[in-house]
Amino acid sequence: MPPETEPDPAEMMPMTDARLLDRLAAIVGSSGLVTGDELRGRSANWTRPTEPCAALALVRPRDTAETSAILAACHAAGVSVVPRGGATGLVDGTLCAPDEITLSTERMSGIEPVDPLGMTVVVGTGATIESVQDAAASSGLFFPLDLGARGSATIGGAISTNAGGLRVLRYGMMREMVLGLEAVLADGTVVSSMRPLIKNNTGLDLKQLFVGTEGTLGVVTRAVLRLRPEPAGYATALIACPSVDDGARVLRAAQSAFQGRVSSFEGLWPDFYRLMTAPGRATL
Ligand SMILES: Cc1cc2nc3c(=O)[nH]c(=O)nc-3n(C[C@H](O)[C@H](O)[C@H](O)COP(=O)(O)OP(=O)(O)OC[C@H]3O[C@@H](n4cnc5c(N)ncnc54)[C@H](O)[C@@H]3O)c2cc1C
Repeated sequence: MPPETEPDPAEMMPMTDARLLDRLAAIVGSSGLVTGDELRGRSANWTRPTEPCAALALVRPRDTAETSAILAACHAAGVSVVPRGGATGLVDGTLCAPDEITLSTERMSGIEPVDPLGMTVVVGTGATIESVQDAAASSGLFFPLDLGARGSATIGGAISTNAGGLRVLRYGMMREMVLGLEAVLADGTVVSSMRPLIKNNTGLDLKQLFVGTEGTLGVVTRAVLRLRPEPAGYATALIACPSVDDGARVLRAAQSAFQGRVSSFEGLWPDFYRLMTAPGRATL
């Protein structure tokens, strides 16, 4: 008779993997290690909602020290680790093979009090973009990064993908919003450069190695983020242009007229515009 359910991979693995999982559980506590059905209940990522996470285990450190201990243990066991934030990335960067460990930052979501004069905030990289926006707003400041996945996407994911979002023209990409960070290399070594200064020309800017590199060089655990004054107001215009070149001229003219304060500029092609404004779709 064949078994009624698929065997749990954790029960079939060699002792070395079992010992590694015991070691990881000892680091993060049993509630910090997710395996078996609970892990298969999580999807691979946002673009594969029905595909279960294939990793051997998901481990949830609470801070940099636990992250370092996890990476050191996996490094010693020769097991690959895939960092995971909100899993909203669109290029499958969080996909895992069955013999890999995925490291989730979901328990590193703390946000320290905003510095209203320095206009900075220190966050755990599991904090969502939206929670950082809210923390900034509650201090009368503004965290400019914004994108559709704001409620799930994390600061660590935004750093690792160098996310752009809706306000790139005025505020730049995530790279421009990170003043300092702390990261753990594959062997568990901690690299810390939590400097809150905008003007900082002391030597190599190591943090740039972790921006846009999809977790390949280490797991980012904390970051110092740059905040901005809340804009006094917004104005939005819908402009019909006869050609793409004319659209580019409109953008150029607006950037000059508004002295670099244009935050967003989006082209809507005729077929998209007709679809979205068709009766019953949306109202302008
Ligand atoms: C509706 C929607 C709209 C979007 N709009 C935009 C947009 O306008 N602009 C844009 O740039 N992107 C956009 N994205 C893509 C995505 O949201 C961003 O790339 C986001 O920054 C990913 O964050 P995440 O926490 O989900 O990262 P994840 O998907 O979890 O991870 C992304 C990559 O970063 C690595 N990683 C995650 N956390 C860490 C960490 N702490 N340390 C090291 N590596 C880490 C992962 O291994 C993976 O390679 C959109 C996605 C959706 C679903």
